[in-house]
Amino acid sequence: MTDRIVVVGGGFAGAAVARRLEKLVPEADVRLVAPDDYMLYLPLLPQVAAGLLPAPATTVALSTWLRRTVVVPGRAVGVDLDARRVLVESITGHHEALPYDRLVLAPGSVTRVADIPGLREHGRGCKTLAEAAFLRDHVLAQLEIANTSTDPEERDRRCRFVVVGGGYAGVETAANLQLMTTDLARRFPRLDPSLVTWHVVQHHDALMPGLGRRLSEDTRRVLASRGVHVDLSTGLTAADEGSVTLSDGRRLATRTLIWAAGIAPSPLMAHLGAETDHGRLVVRADLSVPDRPEVLALGDAAAVPDLASGGGAVCPPTAQHASRQAPVAAANVAAGLAGRPTTDYRHRDLGMVVDLGGSDAVAKPFGVDLSGLPGATVTRAYHLWALRAPATMTRVATNWALGALHGTSAVRLGFLHGTSGRLAEFEHTDDYLDADATRAAIAALS
Ligand SMILES: Cc1cc2nc3c(=O)[nH]c(=O)nc-3n(C[C@H](O)[C@H](O)[C@H](O)COP(=O)(O)OP(=O)(O)OC[C@H]3O[C@@H](n4cnc5c(N)ncnc54)[C@H](O)[C@@H]3O)c2cc1C
Repeated sequence: MTDRIVVVGGGFAGAAVARRLEKLVPEADVRLVAPDDYMLYLPLLPQVAAGLLPAPATTVALSTWLRRTVVVPGRAVGVDLDARRVLVESITGHHEALPYDRLVLAPGSVTRVADIPGLREHGRGCKTLAEAAFLRDHVLAQLEIANTSTDPEERDRRCRFVVVGGGYAGVETAANLQLMTTDLARRFPRLDPSLVTWHVVQHHDALMPGLGRRLSEDTRRVLASRGVHVDLSTGLTAADEGSVTLSDGRRLATRTLIWAAGIAPSPLMAHLGAETDHGRLVVRADLSVPDRPEVLALGDAAAVPDLASGGGAVCPPTAQHASRQAPVAAANVAAGLAGRPTTDYRHRDLGMVVDLGGSDAVAKPFGVDLSGLPGATVTRAYHLWALRAPATMTRVATNWALGALHGTSAVRLGFLHGTSGRLAEFEHTDDYLDADATRAAIAALS
């Protein structure tokens, strides 16, 4: 009988698992459940938000990446681990149950929305392609409105942008968007570019503390040289339509709150009835779920033991780990089907790259601190290499060259007509069913 393999998630981890399975078990029936028809290169999202890259340039179409896998357009909303069935809600809203012999869970993560008054209603994220495109429209609209406003207070409010989160995602988003707004403000005849103000609010006492003190300070210096205010050891306590309140009591008048203060594993994992660690599904070093050898999990949604670091650590949620766990997961699925022993995942972190826009970047390849031009060269070279698909590499490199020659060409695409594009519209955290509800929903289908 043909082996049925279901892969949940078409990101760094899931799409790579499916592609590898096509080679390792060519006779198997592989289905990949994904809400979008592309694999997204998330590290370049800040550049999409900043208009340097068009949205499709950071994607690889699943239809070109995968040859034999059947892509099921939808979202896994529950799993009956005992009956070995995945409940899928399709993009048209109907439900179906997919049976499996092997299940690979790689649904990634969502924005971690803290319980802060007004955040869900007024905050904006930059974690999905749609959010990045909406964010660009929103930021551009603020400059256009400020340009025509006759109220000085409202003009200030429109020109102030607040990013909460001083990790790499928040820093890259603030740095790239700040360059775009400063560049564009010069083109508006009635707008004083010095009115454009960016704030980065970080609860920790350093930016991107994982990169070490030197690169953290270098980043702060770059941001300060561009006039970005960095508020360390500070948090957000409230937000409303026209302001944000910070933990030091200050209230900043703004129409833009960008929330980049962390991620949470896909809520699907907490609904399985299996053990989780801070919301990530607990797996063994061979990526299998304890007592469920037919279920594997990887990427941001899984707590994978970090054997290279030791001491009970789990792998951090990075693309680097997700994409390297994928071939191990695929090989272990194939090994399990063939009755062979599985292999443990072990990878020593290669470091991190952070693009600050223009020719500024900081990077830490193999533990070596780089900033300025060497940092920027390594950062861009790493991204091009990591994109892997030649067409995507070419699109990104071409747009970088165009940006260097002609500056940003960001235009508002009109997404915000009739919708606000805020955090509340992009989270799907309420879609998931626990084991009993999944069982009942599957029974109702048959
Ligand atoms: C702005 C930003 C910058 C980053 N920069 C870096 C960097 O420089 N270096 C680095 O190593 N990492 C970086 N990361 C982190 C990196 O992108 C993630 O660690 C990586 O994407 C995790 O891969 P994944 O496959 O687990 O999840 P993802 O790549 O997020 O893929 C998950 C997939 O599952 C799909 N999905 C979600 N829920 C379901 C469901 N219920 N059913 C079916 N499908 C579902 C999603 O649509 C998505 O396609 C960055 C992240 C962000 C947001």
